[in-house]
Amino acid sequence: MRRCEFFRVLGGIVAGFRPRRLVMVAIAVFALLPIEASDAGWLPDLFKTSSKQAKSPKRAKSARQSTRPAKSAKHRAPAKHHATRLAALGPVALPPSVLKPAAGKCDPATFRIVLDVGHTAESEGAISARNVAEFAFNLRLARLIAERLKADGFAETRLLLTEGKARPSLFKRVASANNLRADLLLSIHHDSVPNKMLEDWEFEGKKSHFSDRFSGYSVFVSRENPDFETSLRFAELTAKEMKAQGLHYAVQYSLPIMGSNQHPLLNKDTGVYRYDELIVLRKTAMPAVLLEAGSIINRDEELQMDSPEHRNIIAGGVASAVQEFCDPRWSLLGPL
Ligand SMILES: [Zn+2]
Repeated sequence: MRRCEFFRVLGGIVAGFRPRRLVMVAIAVFALLPIEASDAGWLPDLFKTSSKQAKSPKRAKSARQSTRPAKSAKHRAPAKHHATRLAALGPVALPPSVLKPAAGKCDPATFRIVLDVGHTAESEGAISARNVAEFAFNLRLARLIAERLKADGFAETRLLLTEGKARPSLFKRVASANNLRADLLLSIHHDSVPNKMLEDWEFEGKKSHFSDRFSGYSVFVSRENPDFETSLRFAELTAKEMKAQGLHYAVQYSLPIMGSNQHPLLNKDTGVYRYDELIVLRKTAMPAVLLEAGSIINRDEELQMDSPEHRNIIAGGVASAVQEFCDPRWSLLGPL
């Protein structure tokens, strides 16, 4: 994984700018830069055809003063669960970045989160152990998350479906998210492994591939996003919610065995990784996070990811993370 000195310098230059101006500066600079492919590998094999790809970012909007979201029945259910978890974890279990005072509450009625469906119908991403395309998993989960968020009062939630070949689609989705003036972008993906780790088996009479070696979700942020700090805050919340749902994170990205796919583990408790090169995270003008919901190349986990119950758990966790992001008090007090 390469580090770009230019962006570090840029970060220093724009550090003193207010968020909106910083975003504008970032957009202008990115527009002038040559397109740079990540050499990071298959995860965001945004750059490869046979495995998986990079995910997108999200953006958190600064301080929009507003009222709390309307509390629906769907809202209350996860909240109760959340309060129980908090009691079990104790306040010290929350990372400092999660508790950091936000710029202010946002208004769920106007806060726009874009759910980026990873990959396209033409370039479907990873292929599961049972030969189902990742795109189908991504679309199903993203739709469910969108439903949950809208039910929780986030009426401006948008599902971002992109067409075309893998790499061009990355820039298309970035442009779409920027045009939508999204406050936050969450790119939804499902995980696989580098091709060298694949093993052969036969499923329904067809030669197939699997790897049961690794499993779990993972959350990625890019230091090159124009609002890395806010991106990290949402990533921390998302990963915390995944863990609170009893899920475990994918440890392999912290291991040397992954080679160029090894990434810095920013939170070893919840599984937040840094992946600077991901185009959807670094080119978007808003805070952005990429969620690998789970592995579909792992035979047991693929079955889990295919179950409505498991999808509900993940969607509920993401919805809770957005609630907490929008109003940090929610994570401490539960819905009022
Ligand atoms: Zn993917």
